[in-house]
Amino acid sequence: MLIFTDKISLHQAVLDHKKNGATIGFVPTMGALHDGHLSLVNTALKENSIVVVSIFVNPTQFNSYSDLENYPRTPEKDLPLLKALGDKVWVFLPTVKDIYENQITSTSYSFDGLENQMEGKFRDGHFNGVGTVVSKLFEITVPDTAYFGEKDFQQLQIIRKLVEKEKIGTEIKSCPIHREPNGLAMSSRNQRLTDEEKENAAIIYQTLLWAQENFQNKSISELQDFVTERFLQEPTIELEYFEIADEQTLETITQKDIDKKYRAFIAVFIRDIRLIDNIALN
Ligand code: AMP
Repeated sequence: MLIFTDKISLHQAVLDHKKNGATIGFVPTMGALHDGHLSLVNTALKENSIVVVSIFVNPTQFNSYSDLENYPRTPEKDLPLLKALGDKVWVFLPTVKDIYENQITSTSYSFDGLENQMEGKFRDGHFNGVGTVVSKLFEITVPDTAYFGEKDFQQLQIIRKLVEKEKIGTEIKSCPIHREPNGLAMSSRNQRLTDEEKENAAIIYQTLLWAQENFQNKSISELQDFVTERFLQEPTIELEYFEIADEQTLETITQKDIDKKYRAFIAVFIRDIRLIDNIALN
């Protein structure tokens, strides 16, 4: 494993290796690594000569100061996990100043409406922040392929749109959601949950599985009513949204069209800890 803390030396090293025929895989993360992140890195390692993993808690994608402050930062645990994956892994640990210089602001993007659905409605400016940091990181790391998790499915579709619109020559690959044994989607934010909260949070995936099983025989409003009702009976978990949306446009639907692919998307709060998840329905 190599560690880079400044963008110029990383950029130069990437260009030198690409000149010699190396392919670069890139896995952007905000650290507090878990098996979900590591699955992305392992997939990237199978397909590239070098895999750059960035660990950077991006301030511009947080719409709540306390969420940014409380986001887990555990470099002392992250680095040994990446080291164990071998010499082909290069870790990029930039500072905020390195990425944003003196202007911690986002570019304003249009992602053809993808940004206005679900997370976009509830996290003002979030996808402008994501687009801004991913563009900057792509410029530095010049990846042949970048790997994103389906856990953040809306983000994945936004990055595909970003690459298409900005004509960025990086292929975007998606990786399946990694889950805890009880079905809870792995997330850095899970570290802030107590054991009891983690156990209770299994209801998130159980609800998604229920929606998947009942997608064909119930209407969209029946599915939504059931889910709303189920969470009203859970005093410790607050449902922010449960939506069924077209996989491509992410537009939420009220009626099914048999030719289209749909997913259920959910966001909940446990105390101030926000968790999201999603599942393919057909
Ligand atoms: P984050 O550090 O949360 O910004 O996530 C970095 C990358 O890891 C993103 O592409 C996420 O979608 C992906 N990721 C996070 N959690 C999971 C998971 N449970 N399974 C698969 N990928 C994940």
